[in-house]
Amino acid sequence: MNPKLSDRVNNMATSATLAMAAKARELRAEGRDIIGLSLGEPDFTVPEFVKDAAIQAVKDDYHAYTPVDGYVDLKQAIITKFKRDNQLEYTLPQIVVSTGAKQSIANLAQVLINEGDEVLLPAPYWVSYSDIGKVAGGKGVPIATGIENDFKVTPEALEAAITPKSKILIYSSPCNPSGSVYSKAELRALADVLVKYPDIIVVSDEIYEHINFTGEHASMAQFPDMYDRTVTVNGVSKAYAMTGWRIGYIGAPEYIARACNKMQGQVTSGANCIAQRATIAALENPPSKIQYMVDAFRNRRKLVLDLLSEIPGIKTNEPEGAFYVFPDISFYFGKTIQGVHIENASDFALLLLDKANVATVTGEAFGSPNCIRISYAASEEDITEAMKRIKTVLS
Ligand code: PMP
Ligand code: GLU
Repeated sequence: MNPKLSDRVNNMATSATLAMAAKARELRAEGRDIIGLSLGEPDFTVPEFVKDAAIQAVKDDYHAYTPVDGYVDLKQAIITKFKRDNQLEYTLPQIVVSTGAKQSIANLAQVLINEGDEVLLPAPYWVSYSDIGKVAGGKGVPIATGIENDFKVTPEALEAAITPKSKILIYSSPCNPSGSVYSKAELRALADVLVKYPDIIVVSDEIYEHINFTGEHASMAQFPDMYDRTVTVNGVSKAYAMTGWRIGYIGAPEYIARACNKMQGQVTSGANCIAQRATIAALENPPSKIQYMVDAFRNRRKLVLDLLSEIPGIKTNEPEGAFYVFPDISFYFGKTIQGVHIENASDFALLLLDKANVATVTGEAFGSPNCIRISYAASEEDITEAMKRIKTVLS
């Protein structure tokens, strides 16, 4: 806290995922052999056809400011993608390209939330939703879920959390951090509650769409009675291993897209020109081109679950998508391990960092204080070695 800074930033939490990744980097620089399972970042390189498009864009002299909401041909490629993969119909003014899905979500918070509005957050939720909402003046309303229900919010729990101040419901499916995937029937059951509360806007974060082991991806906007009040968020960071290229996008009701365009025009302008050209190549190719990464994630999921099952006191659900496991580690609360007293998930994550040299993220950052998040977007060797170290420390 520094009184010279605004209350806004003083009251904001640091991104726990990025903080843990920075800490792991720092310890590595000091010579510690840290295995980083904290960051949700594919360890693959960018597919060659995407790289080629970026190189071509440089050679073609793309250099100037881009249209604030994205190149028209990229927006067209996004429209085609939404239709091909999600059976969603959008028009050009409904699409906004941003500097990562994180900016897409920040834009939405800024254009939708008034002071005191409530943001419904089925927990565990992605770490940044609550603070992005808070910075915009909103109040996060976590809705607890349990491992026994695969960490999915029930229609009853959703309805119980709704008040006249509820403005946005935001969730990810596949979910970061639980890996849960909502089926179409489960989304419909939530929609049946939401139709009774027409003022609530749904932000459906589908950035892990392709990293889905169920074979089925459903979108809230596919329901005609939800389409006009749902924003579909997506991006290329996860599926195309393009985290550092920073391209995300939305398909939204036109008035919301126009507002995001206006907001972005004052804050950052259009997204990076080369990355936008490369994203066209990414989206115009069929998702089968990136199946090799999805297959690798599926194998790693099995590996990490098998190895975790050998460690006493760790409970997991079976994640159906994304690249995280979110084990309940509350068995260890109140115990002392290697001289370290464990009161909560943050203590547990620090124990793993200090004694096992493995970086994970505390579940507290995701609104689920009994859990930690382990990212398996890492090599099989690293996953195997990390689980071995964790097992040694805990036994
Ligand atoms: N939503 C979720 C659920 C995420 O895990 C991430 C990953 N950082 C983002 C949005 C933001 O992605 P990006 O800004 O890299 O597009
Ligand atoms: N979304 C990723 C994660 O959850 C990347 C870090 C971030 O943007 O917070 O780890």
